[in-house]
Amino acid sequence: MRAFVGVGRGQFEMQDVPVPEIGDDDILIQLKAAAICGSDVHIYDGSMDPLCGYPVIMGHENAGIIVKRGENVAERWQVGDRVTSENTVDVCGSCYACITGDYVACEERKGMGIAADGILAEYVKIPGKLLRQVPDCIFKIPDNVSFEEAPLLEPAANGYKAIFQEGRLMGGENVVVTGAGAIGLYSAHMAAIGGAAHVILMVRRSTAKDKIATALKMGVTDVIYSDEPETCAEEVIRLTDGFGADLVVETTGVPAVMNTALGLLHVKGRLVRIAINDTPYGYGLNSITLRSIEVIGHLGYNTVSWRNTINLASQGKLDLTSIVTHRISLEDSGHGFDMMVSREAGKVIVTM
Ligand SMILES: [Zn+2]
Ligand SMILES: [Zn+2]
Repeated sequence: MRAFVGVGRGQFEMQDVPVPEIGDDDILIQLKAAAICGSDVHIYDGSMDPLCGYPVIMGHENAGIIVKRGENVAERWQVGDRVTSENTVDVCGSCYACITGDYVACEERKGMGIAADGILAEYVKIPGKLLRQVPDCIFKIPDNVSFEEAPLLEPAANGYKAIFQEGRLMGGENVVVTGAGAIGLYSAHMAAIGGAAHVILMVRRSTAKDKIATALKMGVTDVIYSDEPETCAEEVIRLTDGFGADLVVETTGVPAVMNTALGLLHVKGRLVRIAINDTPYGYGLNSITLRSIEVIGHLGYNTVSWRNTINLASQGKLDLTSIVTHRISLEDSGHGFDMMVSREAGKVIVTM
């Protein structure tokens, strides 16, 4: 099969590789579409090596059809089912995260395209061990959701978890989302769907106009600029009748943005941190103590996030595709990554 493979740091190529072999417990998915994620770009641009080393098939946001199932696979999965995999390949099954349903935080988790082969290929195997431990590691795609839309359920489920499960949004609350990447935009979208009063997007003044237009289309009500922290605070105070925001979802990982964001919350406000960025922060955190701010770490999603995100999509309540800027073929994967690196592209869909 054809696959887009990382062969060494900064070295990527299309290759012919064997189709994965399927045992009695496994499922084989023929991939139909994928989306390139910012976390895949970290490997492509050499800022991170895959945990499994090279060579590695890239990518994790996916959609396809079950074309083979081992004889021991649960009846609920049949050949011909349209599915999306939530992109885990292996977990330990016995740690605290695994037994409480948050297997994505399992320290032994292997994710596609990062710690195991991914999905920028014609086929991917879902291992039987994982299907036993996490029966919902794949999900059926609703009939009204196309293959090109379905890979976007993954970043949307991230936004779902941040806003509802971790952020515990109540209708009528005021929300600030920092950053206009895919996770930021889907978080803002979920806040709008969940009945937030103001959905305030905090971005750099230099953010492209079309990105702002997409954000407004997806439910953002107001835009503030992180390069002007005083104005941000003033504007949030004005929009919230003097109280401050109830919830901030921080997706940038930029230390100064986090500092500004903490100041936008009212006493006892909630901040969900999605970003992965290890830059030292360089300032004190007494505001968290003195103002009783709740800071919540976010990682991925769980089965509830996926199910509810899919429910919203099946009812036509999700705008999954406004963030898509480019559509390419599997053979052009490298070009897709180049456009992500240069920021020419926002979200790239790859079709097989
Ligand atoms: Zn992703
Ligand atoms: Zn575990």
